[in-house]
Amino acid sequence: MISSPSPIFSPASTEATANQAASPTTSPTIAQASQARRPGGKLIVISGPSGVGKGTLLQRLRQQYPELQVSISATTRQPREGEVHGQHYYFVSKEQFQSMIERGELLEWAEFAGNCYGTPKAPIVEAIAQGQRVVLEIELLGARQVRESLPAAKQIFIAPPTEKTLEHRIRGRGQETETAIEKRLKQAKVELAAADEFDIKIVNDSLDTALEELEAAVFG
Ligand code: ADP
Ligand code: 5GP
Repeated sequence: MISSPSPIFSPASTEATANQAASPTTSPTIAQASQARRPGGKLIVISGPSGVGKGTLLQRLRQQYPELQVSISATTRQPREGEVHGQHYYFVSKEQFQSMIERGELLEWAEFAGNCYGTPKAPIVEAIAQGQRVVLEIELLGARQVRESLPAAKQIFIAPPTEKTLEHRIRGRGQETETAIEKRLKQAKVELAAADEFDIKIVNDSLDTALEELEAAVFG
């Protein structure tokens, strides 16, 4: 049984207290990394309901900016057709995911529609120390954990023009079972209700317009 998610960082600071305790000399915090070696490293969170087009937008943005780092999450979900381990996700067992939590290797994690998803911390610390912009594409609970631990990270919400459009997109993607689709649509209502928590809201109606807005938000 995987224990419930809790912020890895102390809410009152940007220090990775839990992880520092686990590996005090080898694991700098993200706050420390952003001041080290090269300035300019930034963490950007992109969230929004499943099927809204986050992956599509990020793929397009990366075509324009191949240097943009997008974090590869770990998940216990089964790969969809065409998804590659280490490229789209690290597909791990529940036991492996639990070990990652216990070893303090995740910056944040959450359960979503029956599976666990989490952000490996080490590559992010390294990329930020190198002065790179790192994007996390994560759901609401994870975004909240990052907001508590790293309030300086910019938080962007991608919204659909309407809930009906969102449903069309999830169904049109054609890669989930009906049960999974229903869980995602139910969760979408919760996520949409939280849109105002974010620094920037982008409505993904026209893909080109949304892409321009995302570009401005990520590099602004
Ligand atoms: P997410 O990563 O948020 O779960 P996806 O990027 O997988 O969403 O997009 C879900 C579906 O919606 C895909 O089939 C994608 O091609 C389509 N889609 C994304 N953005 C748009 C858009 N602006 N207009 C029409 N369809 C879109
Ligand atoms: P999907 O199964 O459609 O790939 O992803 C389902 C949801 O999990 C999406 O909202 C996606 O943004 C979110 N997600 C992906 N990786 C992570 C992660 O590392 N942490 C959290 N909290 N959510 C994630």
